[in-house]
This record gives sequence, C-alpha cells and structure tokens, in this order.
Amino acid sequence: MAVTTVPPSGPTSTPPPRTEILKSIAPATGEVIGEVPVCSAADVQAAVARARVASVSWGALSYAEREEELVRWRRALAEAADELADLISRENGKPPLDGMVEVFMALSHLDHAAHRAAKALRPEKVSTGLLANFRATVTYHPLGVVGVIGPWNYPIFTPMGSIAYALAAGNAVVFKPSELTPLVGVKLVELAQRSLSIPNVLQVVTGAGPTGAALCKAGVDKLAFTGSTATGKRVMAACSETLTPVLMELGGKDPMIVAEDADVDAAAEAAVFGALTNTGQACISIERIYVAESIYDRFVDKVVAEVGKVKVGGDDGHLGAMTSPQQVGIVKDHLEDAVRRGARALTGGAEAISGNFIQPTVLVDVTDDMKVMKDETFGPVIPIIKVRSTDEAVRRANESSFGLGSAVFGKHARAIADRIRAGMTSVNSVMAFSAITALPFGGVGESGFGRIHGDHGIREFTRTKATAEQIFNLPMNMMSFKTPKGTNERIRGMIKQLFGTGAVARAKDLLGKLR
Ligand code: NDP
Repeated sequence: MAVTTVPPSGPTSTPPPRTEILKSIAPATGEVIGEVPVCSAADVQAAVARARVASVSWGALSYAEREEELVRWRRALAEAADELADLISRENGKPPLDGMVEVFMALSHLDHAAHRAAKALRPEKVSTGLLANFRATVTYHPLGVVGVIGPWNYPIFTPMGSIAYALAAGNAVVFKPSELTPLVGVKLVELAQRSLSIPNVLQVVTGAGPTGAALCKAGVDKLAFTGSTATGKRVMAACSETLTPVLMELGGKDPMIVAEDADVDAAAEAAVFGALTNTGQACISIERIYVAESIYDRFVDKVVAEVGKVKVGGDDGHLGAMTSPQQVGIVKDHLEDAVRRGARALTGGAEAISGNFIQPTVLVDVTDDMKVMKDETFGPVIPIIKVRSTDEAVRRANESSFGLGSAVFGKHARAIADRIRAGMTSVNSVMAFSAITALPFGGVGESGFGRIHGDHGIREFTRTKATAEQIFNLPMNMMSFKTPKGTNERIRGMIKQLFGTGAVARAKDLLGKLR
C-alpha cells in the first residue's frame, strides 16, 4: 500500500532533495505493508507553521462548534473501524481483536474529550478575599500548536490520549507517530483532514527519531511525549532550550499486590491478562507481582494453569507477534539475566522465543537485583514474589524509580491502594483506570509527569489565566500610591485582627475550616 503525506511547501529555486522513504514492515510476517516519507526538519517546521495558521481559526470556534467537528471525525473513524483495526494489527503485530479493542478505546477518549471540553474549561469564579470590590475569574485558553510524539505499542489509543484532548481544548496538533507504526498515524490524520472543516488542524509528520527531535525544536507551544524514559529525557533536554513545556508519559514497572484475603482465582486470572495483553508491551503492564506467603503456592499454580491456556500467534491467538526484534532482544536479555541469577521459569523461557513470537514466561525465585525486577521488560513475562506481610509488599512495590500504574487485590485493597506511589491503581482489577475516560492518566518519577484523559487531560493543553476585575471603588485602594494618611496603622491593625490571636482571627480560622 502506497501512502502519501503532504509534501513540504515553500519556494524552491533548486530541485527539492530526494525524499527518504520509511518502510512499514509487518512484524508477524516480515512483509512490507507500506511506505511513508521521512520528514526533514524543514518539513516539520512547515507543518508547525501551517498548524499555527489553523490554530487561530480552530481556537476561535465555540466549544459547541468544535464538539460538532470532533464528533464528525469520530464518526469517520468509527466507519473505518475495520480498516483501522486491521492496519493496527498488521503494522503492530497484535491480534485483530486487540486492534478492534484499541479502536474502541481510542474513540471513547475522542468522544469524551469532544463532549466534555466545555464543562472542563468553563470559567471559574474564585473568592476575592479582602478585595470585596473585585470579581476574580480563572479562564482556560488554547495554547496554540501542540506537538504529539507517540509510541508503537498502542499506535492509535496512546496518541489519541493527547491528540483528542489537545484538539478539544482548541489547539492545532502536529503528530509524529513511531517509525514502527507510521501507517496508522497517517490514516488517523487522513480521516481528520477529511472530517474537519479547517485544514491542517491535525497533521502528521512521519520519520524516525530525528523527525521527533525536529518537532521538539520547531516552536510548538507544548510537546506531549509518550515513549521510553530514555527518549523522554532527550526530548525534555531539547525542549528546555526553548522552554517549551512538556508532558511526559513514560515507561512503567507496574506492581500488583495480592493480599492474603484476596480471591486467588480472580487475582491470578487478572494477573495473567494484565501481564500478557498486547504481549506485555503496555506501559501499564503488570511487571511484578507481590503475593502473601499464605496463598503464594495456590496463586502460582493458578497463574501457570491460566498461562497454559494462552494461545500465541494466529488470528484467533491471545498474543500476537512482538512489534520489533529489538524488543524481543530486551525480553530475552531480561530472561537470561534472571535465570543466570537463580530465577526459575515455570513456563516459556528464553529458549521458547521463536522469531518475533514469545511464549509467556512465569518466573519465580526472582530477586531485586535482576533486570526483570528493575527495568521495564515490556514483554510477556510474569515475575512472582512471595512476601510476608502487606507492609513488605507495599514497601517493595514502592522501591522502583517508576510509578505509573498498579493493582491491588484483597478485601482491604482500597486502603492498600492509597499507599502505593503511582499515578494510578486498579482495585480488585487490572488496568481499569485506563478505560475510564474521566480518570486522569499519568505517572510519577521515571514514569513522567502531567496528565492525559479526563478534565485534567483537557486542562493540560491550556493556558490558565487569572483575571481580577474591579467592579467598584473603595476609599482605601491598595493598588495605588494615593494612600490616605494613617494607612500604615490601618494595615497593621488589619494584620493583627485578621491573622493574629484576636477574636476576629479566631472566628475566621473557624470559618476557614468550613471552606
Ligand atoms: P521510544 O522512546 O523509543 O519512542 C517514542 C517516540 O519518540 C517514537 O515516535 C520515536 O520515534 C520518538 N523519538 C525517538 N528519538 C527521539 C528524539 N531524539 N526526539 C524526539 N522523539 C524521538 O518509545 P517506544 O516507541 O519504544 O515506546 C515504548 C515505550 O513507551 C515504553 O517505555 C512504554 O512504557 C512507553 N509508553 C508509555 C505510555 C504512557 O502513557 N506512560 C503509553 C505507551 C507507551 P521512532 O519510533 O521513529 O524512533
């Protein structure tokens, strides 16, 4: 399939340089399924310039008008669901069902952002305190142009978490998809360009790392990056040169805690799904499981039994191909390192890797010094760790530089959840927080900062503005040099009255508790 993108614009007295081509290869078959141009820094700058023009008209639309536009795009995407799911499946390697689920999730977010923006961004009146002659308002305004850099693991769902919310907030977007999944990005934007009445509100720039690096330097008003922690640091360093604000959705090493009063069967089934879905190539995959010693053996047996039912490969398989040979290499390295240091593979193992297909591995006897316990594995591996108490489980779950998602199972799981240092926790479930469109999504530590999804996700792509509006004059105006005699004494008196130990201050403190 040949894919075209908007050619670079601008005056050309000499013939334009030959455009480099990026081939998209199906990881399951090795077949070349399409090609896209590699966008140069000049192409990226031209796209941002076009977006800048588009952002003026797009940002000037009313919320209702933008909602209507985005709903039109959502409908076009829904009509193309089969084509999109098939493309995701072929380009990423995941089974067709997973491709369809991904389209569903992405459209849920587009739908939410489109309908919710007006409410999330409605102006807020706030208390004016002592300045009773003022009206104070907080308003939210579009930033202008947002750059979105996306990964390959969920090529439509993940970038949509930034794109939909940035567009709904009134920004134009320039999107750089991963070099491993460019066709999905191109299709997404093609349908937007057909659906939206203003040209260039959403554009795609295809290419590899250098194209992403160029986007960081192209003068966008915010850069929303989703990808690995290592690349995220490079992106942040590049953006720091122009003080371009960044949103960082990075890697994870999500822990799951199974308390002794948990439903063992339900927890084991959820663990297998949470660790293996998308062949473990999810930023919120379960990557470490801490299990109470009293139920440890039963839990391990059940996990092994459930893993035995997981089918790898084929259109009806639960797990597809890994998306890249590089990622297969990382998983193999983690498995070999673990076994060398004393871990036991109860299923799968490094030997069970065949090309881009990996049989799921259940690992026991793992120790904290192993790569599989410290670094993001991003593959179908389930390390299970026995713990003596909930306190130990929480302490070890929190001993990680990452802090993205997490899961807790047990009768008192809700209370345990609050003790986990992570952006998100599912209680008696896995990954559910990502499917609830109104919940903010994001991490702490090396998992990044900023939030996509929900109202937080819409506000993330706005400029917060404070307005203080004087509505009538008072004799004592603090914002003037024309201060009547005795002002100093009056202010000193007010300090004592309002903030000291007197009756007025005490009454105010009591009222403050009711705020
Ligand atoms: P990478 O960090 O390798 O790449 C992410 C994106 O950045 C790609 O589009 C990549 O382009 C681009 N890029 C590469 N180098 C640069 C650069 N110097 N400047 C700007 N952009 C650059 O991540 P992966 O694609 O491998 O994705 C997997 C990672 O993403 C995992 O760590 C996963 O945990 C994380 N992730 C996080 C999520 C979250 O919400 N927190 C969600 C999903 C994934 P190219 O691919 O063309 O090299």
